[in-house]
Amino acid sequence: MNTKIAAFLRDSRPATPCLVMDLDIVADNFCALRAALPDTRIFYAVKANPAPAILKLLVAAGSSFDCASIPEIDMVLAAGATPDRISFGNTIKKESDVAAAFERGVRLYAFDSEAELDKVARAAPGSRVFCRILTSGEGAEWPLSRKFGCEPEMAKELLLAARFKGVEPYGVSFHVGSQQRDLEQYDRALAEVADIFHDLAGKGLELKMVNLGGGFATKYMVDIPTAEQYGQAIRDSLLKHFGNRMPETIIEPGRGMVGNAGVIQSEVVLISKKSANDNRSWVYLDIGKFGGLAETMDEAIKYPLVTEHDAEGAESEPVIIAGPTCDSADILYDKADYRLPTALRIGDKVEIRAAGAYTTTYASNGFNGFAPLTEYYI
Ligand SMILES: *Cc1c(COP(=O)(O)O)cnc(C)c1O
Repeated sequence: MNTKIAAFLRDSRPATPCLVMDLDIVADNFCALRAALPDTRIFYAVKANPAPAILKLLVAAGSSFDCASIPEIDMVLAAGATPDRISFGNTIKKESDVAAAFERGVRLYAFDSEAELDKVARAAPGSRVFCRILTSGEGAEWPLSRKFGCEPEMAKELLLAARFKGVEPYGVSFHVGSQQRDLEQYDRALAEVADIFHDLAGKGLELKMVNLGGGFATKYMVDIPTAEQYGQAIRDSLLKHFGNRMPETIIEPGRGMVGNAGVIQSEVVLISKKSANDNRSWVYLDIGKFGGLAETMDEAIKYPLVTEHDAEGAESEPVIIAGPTCDSADILYDKADYRLPTALRIGDKVEIRAAGAYTTTYASNGFNGFAPLTEYYI
C-alpha cells in the first residue's frame, strides 16, 4: 500500500471502519489530467468526495467545480473558489435553488429539457446554459445513461429556443458513464456533439463549449487507461470532429480525481457457514452497503480487498462478503467470485482499496446505529 497511508494506519490505529485519503495522490491526479488535456478546463465533480481538504487543494491547484446542489456550491465557495469557477451541472434543479445559485454569482447551468431551461431562464437571466445529450453508457461500470440528457434533435431545438429566452446557449455536454474504460465512447459522443455544432452554425447559432463530463476510471481489479491515454483519445477525437474550429472544452472528473487516493480500513466481524457442508464461508465486515460501499450495488464496482494474510501462494477460499447491518440487501459480493485467505480470522483488518470516490457521502446517517464513515485526509 501507499506508504503514507500505511504509516498513518500503523501509528494512529484509528477505529474502523474509516477512510484514509492521501491528498498528494489527488494533487497528482489533477496534474496528470491537466497535462493530458492542457487546453481543457477541469471542473471537479464535487459529489465524488466533497471533503473540505480536497476542495481546498483543488481550489489552490486551479480547478473549477461541477456542483449539483446549493450545499455543494457553498462548500466550494467556502473552500475559496470564486463563482465563475462553478458549474451548476445537475439537470434536475428546483427553481429556488437556481435563484440561490444565481444570487451567489453562478452563471453556468446545465439543462436537458424545456421545463428546466425555462426555470434557468427565469431564475438566472443572462446566464450561459449547456444542453446535456443522452449517451448509451455502454462500456461503463457505473452507467449514467437514460436518466440524464435528451436526444440530439431535442438539444438542437432547445438550444435554438434558448436565444429567445434571455439566456446564452453556450454548449453541449455529455457523460459517457462512470468508470468508462472504453475510450471509443468519447469519440461516439463527440461525433454527435459536432453534428449539433455544425447544424446550429448553419442556423446562425455558434455554440462555444463542449463539456465532456467524467468517466475517467480508477484502478480497481482490472487495468485502466492512463490519464495520458484518455487525453490522447479525446484530443484526437476533438481534432477529427472540429478541426481548426476547436471549441472551448471542459471535463468533469470525479472518480478519476479521488478514487485511487483513499483506502478504507475495515475489520472482520464474523466468519460463518450456513450448514456443516456449506462450500462458501460468509465474511461479515464492519462496513457494508449502508456504511459507504453503495457502489457495490449489483456488484458493479469491485474493490480490491487486501488482508495481512495475502502472501504469495497463501491458501484462499471462495467467500460471500457482507456488511454488518440487519438488512439482507447488505451483501457486497456474492456472484463476483471473491476469494479471501483461509487464514483470515474474526478481528483481522481488511483494507478496501481505491475507495476515495463515492463512499463517504453514500454512508447512511446512522442506519442500525452504525455511524457514518469516519474520514482522515493526510
Ligand atoms: C457524477 C458526475 C460526474 C463525475 O463522473 P465520474 O465518472 O466520477 O468522473 C461528472 N459530471 C456530472 C454531470 C456528473 O453527474
